[in-house]
Amino acid sequence: MSTNAELQSRKQQAIARGQGNVYPVYVSHARNAEVWDVEGNRYIDMGTGIAVCNTGHAHPKVVAAITEQVQKFSHTCVMVNPYPQAVELAEKLNKLVPGPTQKKSVFVSTGAEAVENAIKIARAHTGRRGVIAFNGGFHGRTNMAMALTGKITPYKYQFGPFPADIFHVPFPNSLHGVSVEDALKALQNLFKVDIAPQDVAAIIIEPIQGEGGFYHAPPELLQALRHLCDEQGIVLIMDEIQTGFARTGKFFCSEYADVEADIMTVAKGIAGGFPIAAVVGKAEVMDAPLPGGLGGTYGGSPVGCAAALAVLEVIEQEQLCQRALAIGEQVQAALEKIRGKHPQVIAEVRIKGAMIAIELMHDGDPNQPNTALTQALIASAAEQGLILLSCGFYANVIRLLPALTIEDKVLQEALEKLAELFDRL
Ligand code: PLP
Repeated sequence: MSTNAELQSRKQQAIARGQGNVYPVYVSHARNAEVWDVEGNRYIDMGTGIAVCNTGHAHPKVVAAITEQVQKFSHTCVMVNPYPQAVELAEKLNKLVPGPTQKKSVFVSTGAEAVENAIKIARAHTGRRGVIAFNGGFHGRTNMAMALTGKITPYKYQFGPFPADIFHVPFPNSLHGVSVEDALKALQNLFKVDIAPQDVAAIIIEPIQGEGGFYHAPPELLQALRHLCDEQGIVLIMDEIQTGFARTGKFFCSEYADVEADIMTVAKGIAGGFPIAAVVGKAEVMDAPLPGGLGGTYGGSPVGCAAALAVLEVIEQEQLCQRALAIGEQVQAALEKIRGKHPQVIAEVRIKGAMIAIELMHDGDPNQPNTALTQALIASAAEQGLILLSCGFYANVIRLLPALTIEDKVLQEALEKLAELFDRL
């Protein structure tokens, strides 16, 4: 069996550096919130493969559903010979996503594809060209999703030209002095200078910016966008790819603001690690493109549908929305203690259920992001048996995304390890 170091060296020879890895830790197996590497070392996974394994690694019900499905058949293509699982999953998603009863879904394989298809649908429905997104937002690595993403390096660097008619406005951020009014003023300015609202097909927003740093969209902003979209016939797209499936303590995070989008993009936590994603929205909007205009060969694969149906059942049976809130409370108490001890380093802790951010600064100044410290903490976390991720424009935010099924004692152990990491500074 190869060591982590040997595999990392082979990886660097075999896989392009654009697909970089946070840790040179090669996984042998994983169960619920724990991961073991090829050398037998154990880690507590506080990243869940970037907010994917909300139901933990290898949940027995998800494994059973996938196994059963793959033994029956693994592929026919939903666009050739569909199967009951796809219909059942679409029916469930159409009910779960907030909005009018008449909703429809379309299946794809990744979050970026869901975003691409959401924009296609919005343009087909409105016959308009413009799309507005937010600074600091992240929507994926395909061409349109990249164009919508509000950060250049590394996501867009060297990859232009991008599609035309994409515009960005500021995302509110109380820590760094951007208000809801600033964002709305920028929108009005955009309408005066760059594009008339009658030419805008869609506004896309994450209710909590994921890669952008776990900044929360204030409910007033989402409500104002809903109002504006209603007034101007613009399609409101809620990107819940990172925030969905009980992560924040509601099934979807936008429920906190009581805002119903016209279209929602979902992926990641939907199927516990099996690549499936969906666009879900109002039927009259979703049905704008012609048959054959949406989807793809693997979109809504039977194995993905089976995995997703099992995940939805586990979220309900194990009451994972409530569990996410309980996790958030346990983490908040621990992080308050850590922050009390290290007030010069921690600028802010932001928690919504089990979507948790610790923003790090230099010398007690929140306007001096401490990227070096964040990256050093993350690098040394693995030595403590902890998998952590960063996010944020300056990569100065540690994000915690534990499995919602994590046992209390494992979570406590992770929080103790985190406290030790800060104590060693
Ligand atoms: N949208 C959001 C909010 C995301 O967080 C991500 C991934 O991190 C994406 C879209 C892209 O998803 P994928 O990586 O599955 O293409």
